[in-house]
Amino acid sequence: MKSGIGIIKKLFLWYALLIFIFYGTLVILYIDVNQMMRLSDNIINRYQKVSSFSKKMIENLLSMEENEKKYILLKKKDYLDFFVDAREAFEYNLNQVMQLESPEYQLPDTWRDLFDSYQDFSAGKGDRSTYESSDTLWIAEQEIDAWIKKLRRARLENEQNIILANIELNQWGQSAVKYGVAGLGISIFIGLIWILVIARTMVRPLRALGKGIRSITKERFSQPIDIRSNDEFGELAAAFNEMAKRLKEEELMRAEFITTLSHEIRTPLTSIRESVNLIVEKVMGPTNRQQTKFLKIASSEIGRICELLNHLMHVSRLEESVFKVEPVPADPLVFVIKSIDHLNPNAKGKGIHIDLKIPPSIPEIIGDTRHLQQVMLNLLGNAIKFSRTGSKIEVIVTHDDKRDVVQYAVSDNGDGIRPSEQTLIFDKYYRGREVREHMDGVGLGLNISRQIVEAHQGKIWVESEVGRGSTFFFTLPTAAGFNGKNNHRQPHGKLNSERPEGGKTANE
Ligand code: ADP
Repeated sequence: MKSGIGIIKKLFLWYALLIFIFYGTLVILYIDVNQMMRLSDNIINRYQKVSSFSKKMIENLLSMEENEKKYILLKKKDYLDFFVDAREAFEYNLNQVMQLESPEYQLPDTWRDLFDSYQDFSAGKGDRSTYESSDTLWIAEQEIDAWIKKLRRARLENEQNIILANIELNQWGQSAVKYGVAGLGISIFIGLIWILVIARTMVRPLRALGKGIRSITKERFSQPIDIRSNDEFGELAAAFNEMAKRLKEEELMRAEFITTLSHEIRTPLTSIRESVNLIVEKVMGPTNRQQTKFLKIASSEIGRICELLNHLMHVSRLEESVFKVEPVPADPLVFVIKSIDHLNPNAKGKGIHIDLKIPPSIPEIIGDTRHLQQVMLNLLGNAIKFSRTGSKIEVIVTHDDKRDVVQYAVSDNGDGIRPSEQTLIFDKYYRGREVREHMDGVGLGLNISRQIVEAHQGKIWVESEVGRGSTFFFTLPTAAGFNGKNNHRQPHGKLNSERPEGGKTANE
């Protein structure tokens, strides 16, 4: 049972993390922008107004001072009007400034001072008739100078406030940019990590599973796949490994069963064949022509069944891993010549000539000639079987000193093999579509050959053209090439995926 975090939970957690970062960044940006709005509001609606009102107030005071003096000297009514207008404007502007104060915005103390001092001074002096009847100055010059001074100080403070607000605005702006970029960077980083994690936790297990399934399809066996995640993929891998283990056990049981059965059938069958042969050879007494003919057919059929049982036992032994290659330095030609000698009678029976071409000198190979002869017999046997009567078969042995291998080629002029079947024919029990109906065989010869060649660190492949014939190649390492620079696999190891030029390898 799954105990770790499942895929949905994992995805959800990543998603939640991204959302958290996204909204976190938004909140920070919101706070920054809010502060910026507050500051720009202060600058536009307060500091700028204070600046403009205070400027006007200074002008008002100067006008009051000038017109008061002129009026007292000349007693001209216009000056009194100007004075009163200036004073009213001053009062109006002062009130406007004082109204700017709110719980969020506190005016500097200078304004409160100015306001209080103006209030004190103007108490009871606001009436126009008071000025007309008075010969003295309504307001002393020093008093106006003191107010102008206060106003100038207030203006200075206000300008400083504007500068400070601009600096703060700038800082909040920078902070917004910083947090925005950081949020964006972190989300991109987390997103990339997410992709990597997904690639690791999903793509890797899927690939491993795909490889395992392909291996089972091709070879009916797969190494256990290694997925350690505690999610559904881990579960899937465990189920797959369980299935592969069961399949392997069943394959082994089947192979063992076939071996036992083949063995049990072959023993009495050999006795039957011997008995039939004795009768054919008239050891038991005379037989007529008809009887001899049928006895010969029986003997040949029994021979075919024995051959089939031998193949089945061979494959089963390969599956049970009883099959062991014991590679030793060996003559590269003796097993070829022995195979040709063995099959020459069959070839001659079909009027086929087997031609052997060998180079003048050739190094020893590293191999187990007992098994290699089986490969040569299979390839030659097929060549004879699929060749037309009276045609020629060529066996060519060459030495490739660059790759340190000896290459064997068996060519026939038979019907050839379709490209789509050229890799399948090396699979167990596969038989060509064209030959299934009308030719003997069980589809094991090439599979056995492939296993033997690959256990020798060699390669086997075919090149064929429909209607023109086929050439089966296989290579074996020389002493210099065995486990050396040319080879990439151990005996009993995985198949070598390198493809020879042209042609299809048995493993493609
Ligand atoms: P079998 O010969 O018992 O059918 P093999 O494994 O030897 O099994 O061969 C598998 C298939 O490969 C054959 O059924 C045939 O279709 C094809 N084949 C093998 N050798 C040749 C050849 N020399 N020419 C044409 N087809 C061949």
